[in-house]
Amino acid sequence: MKDIRINGDRLWNSLATMATIGATRRGGVCRLALSDLDKAGRDLFVGWCRDAGCVVSVDQMGNIFARRDGLDPARPPVATGSHLDSQPTGGRFDGAYGVLAGLEIIRTLNDSGLRTQAPLEMVVWTNEEGSRFAPAMIASGVFAGVFDLNYGLSRTDAAGKTIGEELARIGYGGALPVGQRKFGAFFEAHIEQGPILEESGTTIGIVSGAQAQRWYDVTVTGQEAHAGPTPMKRRHDALLGAARAVVEVNRIGMELSPAACATVGFMSVGPNSRNTIPGRVLFSVDLRHPDDGMLATMDADLRASLHGMGSELGLTISIDQIWHSPAVNFDGACIGTLREAAAQLGLSQRDIVSGAGHDSCYINRVAPTGMIFIPCQGGVSHNEAESASKHDVTAGAQVLLLAMLRHADLV
Ligand SMILES: [Zn+2]
Repeated sequence: MKDIRINGDRLWNSLATMATIGATRRGGVCRLALSDLDKAGRDLFVGWCRDAGCVVSVDQMGNIFARRDGLDPARPPVATGSHLDSQPTGGRFDGAYGVLAGLEIIRTLNDSGLRTQAPLEMVVWTNEEGSRFAPAMIASGVFAGVFDLNYGLSRTDAAGKTIGEELARIGYGGALPVGQRKFGAFFEAHIEQGPILEESGTTIGIVSGAQAQRWYDVTVTGQEAHAGPTPMKRRHDALLGAARAVVEVNRIGMELSPAACATVGFMSVGPNSRNTIPGRVLFSVDLRHPDDGMLATMDADLRASLHGMGSELGLTISIDQIWHSPAVNFDGACIGTLREAAAQLGLSQRDIVSGAGHDSCYINRVAPTGMIFIPCQGGVSHNEAESASKHDVTAGAQVLLLAMLRHADLV
């Protein structure tokens, strides 16, 4: 089986052709979900799938399924896919790689005349990025039952247009009910979007799961006062408290590094005036860890250290957790197949935890799911400079091919 070789040049050319749709001047891509450019990217992909003999169907969230029949139609399909939408200043690999790697697998099997028992499917998930319509991964979320269909279709962009209206406008509001499809297994290939594989000289990252996350809004309330007549010892400076909190958040992350991440990314200072001691500061906290229990420990540490700091400085601290996403653990059998495939091909591999969300994180709730990463240059993504090597792009697709054939049973 390991002698079936995917065509790296053809995959590379498909990526380059897809990247012409929404191409930006600095070599990136802007293909916002359900825009005319997203439609053009979808049309190109669907055309390629039909040329490869696949039957294409679209569900009510605009998710695209391109099916290559198996010899046993009763078996659930073994599927792979990702997304074709991008950030406003996105790269040419984020999402498109996972979609086009699937297409290359179908083309390779066609070239060699090989059939599988189970059908194979390539999937494009709608609005993964969450850039035009929040939240991210909305359509795979509806598919997995995390959100209901009406919620998904009624999300609006900044201009007030809904996902449902825009799907209808570009002709991708399909008839298929969302989420009724059962996959035998689902795989996704993606660029890492971080530096670990490149730094360690590893070709294939076997993704064990994704980090648990908690997001907070924190408000520090002190007392506004004149910056001149108010002695240092009598102050209740909310910004001083917020500054100490930033140091505490960093400590919480550092103490459990490298597994943990802890970030203050947003801050608003009131009244934000040069000669007034700040009375009220609002800031965000983002805590992440691959283990739910360790994240709960970080949560307790955050609350204790911020409240301790507050009473020391005479400040009121309110900590509001606004979002919690538990850790994702991908399917053991799928992970095993991916490891075996990489080993069989003699590729370097290591286990890795995804710091970012992916459609696979939701699909994992309804189907056995596995994911691989390939290195991206400098660990950079969501950036026009995003880049990956032809060697790694090819190697990842080859791993995906072997893993899918293992689950779909090559005849
Ligand atoms: Zn992506």
